[in-house]
Amino acid sequence: MTDRRAGPPVPRCAHPPAFDSWRDVRRRVISLLDEPPPLLVVTDFDGTLAPITLDPLATRIVPAARRALRVLARLSADRPDRLRLVVLSGRAALDVAGRVRVGRLEYLGNHGLEGGRLPWRARAEHLVVHIDPSLQPFVEPAERLGSAVAERLGRPDWLFVETKGPSVAFHFRQAPDAAEAVRRLDAAIAAIGDASGRQAFERFEGRKVIEFRPPAAGGKGAALERLLERERPESVLLLGDDRSDAEAFRVLARERAQRGLTGLAIAVHGATETPPEVVEAADMLLPAPLDAAAVLSALASAAARRFA
Ligand SMILES: [Mg+2]
Repeated sequence: MTDRRAGPPVPRCAHPPAFDSWRDVRRRVISLLDEPPPLLVVTDFDGTLAPITLDPLATRIVPAARRALRVLARLSADRPDRLRLVVLSGRAALDVAGRVRVGRLEYLGNHGLEGGRLPWRARAEHLVVHIDPSLQPFVEPAERLGSAVAERLGRPDWLFVETKGPSVAFHFRQAPDAAEAVRRLDAAIAAIGDASGRQAFERFEGRKVIEFRPPAAGGKGAALERLLERERPESVLLLGDDRSDAEAFRVLARERAQRGLTGLAIAVHGATETPPEVVEAADMLLPAPLDAAAVLSALASAAARRFA
């Protein structure tokens, strides 16, 4: 394995970082099946199983990733003592379930603030989503903040406002100048002031997106902590590409150090914009969602053989 953490820091938008060899990644992933069960697999969606698109509504899963998830979902349903599977996304749970369209697995949306398990053969639209009741008071202010900012900026073409229950995301991937888009968004929010309800939220920045989320609700790091508590896995495989995934990677690193949990955090590189902390927090680095799909396929095949 290439130990990237021992090397120099990876600069943003400069040179592609050193990727781990496919053979090494596959070997490390499959070796998780040698650990005491169960293995918990948690994967992000955008940038991890699906290439990032200019329009977030146009994002589609890599077909090989869907096929691998189908096999893994079947195996986890048949052998929950051996395998658990969760898709953990920043999108709303219904949205990501509709893009993955695989039953018998759990979809956690909004970085883990909401979610549900899709039964076998159920339509993704019928996913029953549970939201923590304590977050309900944020739903209306999040919607208000979303429309107030869009209004203030004159609803530009480059802005996509995603209201998702108790939080709101401002996507600016289509902006000609990303730094200018951030400046304009922040200026609009500051100008709206307290009337926007902004002060009720915490600000998070991801890949070409700014989100406002209930304070102390936690992100994917807190979501992983809850999953570890509930599922009690002996080993964990994480896949992700953004800052929120890095939070989960750091939780995994802490759990490995403190209580001997086995685990592997794999970052999926996105063109030239992967935040450096994602690369730093990961154990291994893959070039693209197609490679993540291949990793999940290899795991699915190996698990199918072993569980037979
Ligand atoms: Mg992502």
